[in-house]
Amino acid sequence: METAMAKVDAGERPVPRWRRYALAAAECLAETVWPTRCVICERLGSVLCERCRRALPYIDQWMACPRCGAPYGMRQCTECNRLSLRDTGFDDPPFDACVSAAFFSSAVARIVRTHKDGGERRLARDMAYAMACAIPPD
Ligand SMILES: [Zn+2]
Ligand SMILES: [Zn+2]
Repeated sequence: METAMAKVDAGERPVPRWRRYALAAAECLAETVWPTRCVICERLGSVLCERCRRALPYIDQWMACPRCGAPYGMRQCTECNRLSLRDTGFDDPPFDACVSAAFFSSAVARIVRTHKDGGERRLARDMAYAMACAIPPD
């Protein structure tokens, strides 16, 4: 049997059906007035289109430093060796390990700024996927 308050929000209070319909209508109206566009190329349809997502400058994790995540530090890192760290006052990096998913290009900066400063939370899924793919399984 379906009730007028089928869904439950995070606070365990039932969400009235009229409110769900109102939110869906508002979302449809917003999509009509301001259609979703790719944050990089502005193609209609998604916040990050497949072409732009594939073209991001991902870091080859086989070449990256396993300690600090620098893109070319697998054999000898220029970012986290003792000589580089001497000026910072550390003998070792102040963390156990770090991984970077992509170079900080203008496209990546735009994604981060749009998510962080522009409030476009739909980019979180693409960003999380890129980070999850960069993290070693162990
Ligand atoms: Zn695009
Ligand atoms: Zn390093």
